[in-house]
Amino acid sequence: MSPALHVVGAGLAGLAAALGGVKAGWRVALHEAAPQAGGRCRSFRCQRLDRVVDNGTHLLLGANRHALSFAAAIGGIEALAPVEPAFPFLDLASGRHWTVLPGRPSAGAVETLLALGLPWTSTCQTVDHRLGRTRSYRTLWRPLCEAILNTPPERASARLLGTVLREVLLGGKSAMRPYVAAGGLSAVFAAPAEATLATFGAELNFGRRLVKIGRQSLEFDDEAIALGSRDRAILALPPWSVAPLLPDLPAFSSAAIVNAHFRLDQPVPLPGGQPFLGLVGGTGQWLSVRDDVVSVTVSAADRLAERSAEEVAGILWAEIAPILRAPARVPPVRVIKERRATLAHTPEVVRRRPGPVTNVPWLWLAGDWMASPWPCTMEAAIASGLAAARLAVGRDDLSFA
Ligand SMILES: Cc1cc2nc3c(=O)[nH]c(=O)nc-3n(C[C@H](O)[C@H](O)[C@H](O)COP(=O)(O)OP(=O)(O)OC[C@H]3O[C@@H](n4cnc5c(N)ncnc54)[C@H](O)[C@@H]3O)c2cc1C
Repeated sequence: MSPALHVVGAGLAGLAAALGGVKAGWRVALHEAAPQAGGRCRSFRCQRLDRVVDNGTHLLLGANRHALSFAAAIGGIEALAPVEPAFPFLDLASGRHWTVLPGRPSAGAVETLLALGLPWTSTCQTVDHRLGRTRSYRTLWRPLCEAILNTPPERASARLLGTVLREVLLGGKSAMRPYVAAGGLSAVFAAPAEATLATFGAELNFGRRLVKIGRQSLEFDDEAIALGSRDRAILALPPWSVAPLLPDLPAFSSAAIVNAHFRLDQPVPLPGGQPFLGLVGGTGQWLSVRDDVVSVTVSAADRLAERSAEEVAGILWAEIAPILRAPARVPPVRVIKERRATLAHTPEVVRRRPGPVTNVPWLWLAGDWMASPWPCTMEAAIASGLAAARLAVGRDDLSFA
């Protein structure tokens, strides 16, 4: 019998690792604590709104090459729509509109070079330290920092922001092109990945939590699995789930993202003509529309997440109702607080992100928090899953193509 690859965690990292395993011809078993796949990137039918909503609006860009090639490999790419690479913004305080376009970031050359991390950025520098005195700080660099790193610029790593901005802003139109999941995130990743893995004969186990790593075994809350000498395992779990299993792991702080999904009486176009709109000068940071559902995203939202769902909905609706020319009364709404959405990308945390190798010879790590040129994102998660699968099955050439 061929050796088995056990993947624990069916978020994007685990799904990508499992796909790598089956593509290498291994017997793969995927074990997930939740009743469904997708982890922090999933959609579900909200009874209150009677609509499919995402746990949080996710932006995928052309620069996210691993994520797009994974979506293509599982067929989920069919559920992604490319849109024009143009990012309209509205200043809620002044009413001013502008659009960030490829090659036109709407900032001066010197501050753009600084934001790109050029000519050099120390690993200790924060975004505020590097860009805090620039003209476009409030209207461009702060919003981009919070959206990309989910961390306020006062605490965020300037070097990591620079790396991402170089990939996206210097990559031309194709790198900046946004992709929208019109039918929800799960239609792009979780559902087609599950179907593909099942087609390859992978075993999918839901509602099963890993509680201990034995000398040569994985102990779940319902069963212990003994591993043969050629079997391998990948933990594709967030750091707070790995910590009790591998006690040597350093501590990682995380940051919240809050989303409010409002169901309107009818679909409403956003100013700027795109399915999303950047907001500055208020609490809401991004507006996005999907048919008659308008969603507001707030990143770096630890303080907002402390407030009640009713308060959050009231604050955000008061800001966006005038933009949508909608009545002041709050429509049906679902507020989702993801308190541990990503790592807090401070310079210290970024320096501490580990690689996939562990002290256990048959065990590797995957997840968006692995060392990466990207912050905790779909791209980082999927790339880490592939990297761990390559190591576990001993195939450097493994890809999704
Ligand atoms: C609100 C929100 C908005 C976001 N926006 C964006 C965006 O715009 N663009 C972007 O690229 N990224 C975005 N992200 C980040 C992105 O969703 C994550 O980086 C990615 O989904 C992480 O995937 P993962 O597989 O590493 O981890 P996870 O998705 O956390 O997967 C880990 C899985 O392990 C399971 N698990 C945990 N413990 C155990 C255990 N003991 N045993 C078995 N299973 C276990 C969990 O249930 C989960 O399914 C956003 C995240 C959130 C929450």
